[in-house]
Amino acid sequence: MRRINLKKANVARADTIRYINRQIVLNYVREKEPISRAEISQETALQRSTVSLIVDELKQRGLIYEIEGESTGGRPPTLLRLRAAGWMAIGVDVGTAQTTVAVADLVGRVVDREKFPTDSDVRATFRRVISSVQRFIKIHRNIEGIGVCVPGLVDPETGTALFIPHFKWRNWPLASELRKATDLPVTVDNDANAAALAELWLGRPEIRDVRDFILVLVEEGLGTGIIFDGQVYQGVAGAAGEFGHMTIGKGAPVACAAGSEECWEAFASERATLARYKQRGGGEITFLQLIDKAFAQDEAAKESLLETAYYLGLGIANLTKGLSPEVVILAGDIARAWPLISGELRSTLAANTICSGLPLAPVFASTLGDDTRLMGALSLVLASKFASVVPA
Ligand SMILES: [Zn+2]
Repeated sequence: MRRINLKKANVARADTIRYINRQIVLNYVREKEPISRAEISQETALQRSTVSLIVDELKQRGLIYEIEGESTGGRPPTLLRLRAAGWMAIGVDVGTAQTTVAVADLVGRVVDREKFPTDSDVRATFRRVISSVQRFIKIHRNIEGIGVCVPGLVDPETGTALFIPHFKWRNWPLASELRKATDLPVTVDNDANAAALAELWLGRPEIRDVRDFILVLVEEGLGTGIIFDGQVYQGVAGAAGEFGHMTIGKGAPVACAAGSEECWEAFASERATLARYKQRGGGEITFLQLIDKAFAQDEAAKESLLETAYYLGLGIANLTKGLSPEVVILAGDIARAWPLISGELRSTLAANTICSGLPLAPVFASTLGDDTRLMGALSLVLASKFASVVPA
């Protein structure tokens, strides 16, 4: 029988609180710099002493520094600023079509990037990743770690990519190979989990201040990242968040990555939308082209997207019933079509949540744009770094 070790659970809980408080303070400095300790304390309702401890910790790490503010008569106040350039990370976004390797600072500002088509041969892709990473390490100093996101299942403990459906890659020991080649700490996760972390670390304030939310990443497939208590909920062997394979109906326009025509992914992914467009007489185009056509009032493109919006609303209604998140975020290229689809999505969600009596979770489109997954990869470094700061 499994029992909860209460002592262990309490330690974990205290660590979580410290981690969340660090995240909050750092985000405030990033957002409102220059800012004083007292202002942070007022705005966050964190105790002044807690703020001071965290600020000292972040200062010691070289992540923030002090400046003298303008005097309003008395002693000039001490204000805090972010030392963004003192700290760099490499993010690697392995996509089904393209891989991006980039260097960015603490605020997610990309200073260097390289893109190449993802080779279906895993060794060839890995060689390209390694050569980009090594080139960047030579050029840029202060690189603290590497974050990688992949479109598939990852064991978060070992950083092994267990299965990437699009390429049928299995058991790729990505983290250990990359660590061996670079001598840097490496964190690997699923792209939807990483994107959810990016919203937390680098997203807009109304999302950053939320501690429990779900991110729905629509791509060729469909994945979800669940954030509880400001951290990714991983489940056993990192397999949580596979809502893309929940049953949503019968006779989807395409099969999911595992071959089923009943999964959410088979109804609401980019592939599903493109297949609907074809059924309506449309030709072979990309998903972004389809969105452009819909904005240009192409009826077939618009209807295909609206049907996808309906299924997104249906799936999100199910998630809301089970998890009751504060917010749901829609990410991926589909976020560009938000003005076209938000009405349909929200009304489907409303119509299908009534029976549960739960409040309607607000749904937002991601604000991280084309770089959501890359920002996710970078956030993996941020998150692991802050989780490991010596407790105050
Ligand atoms: Zn499936």
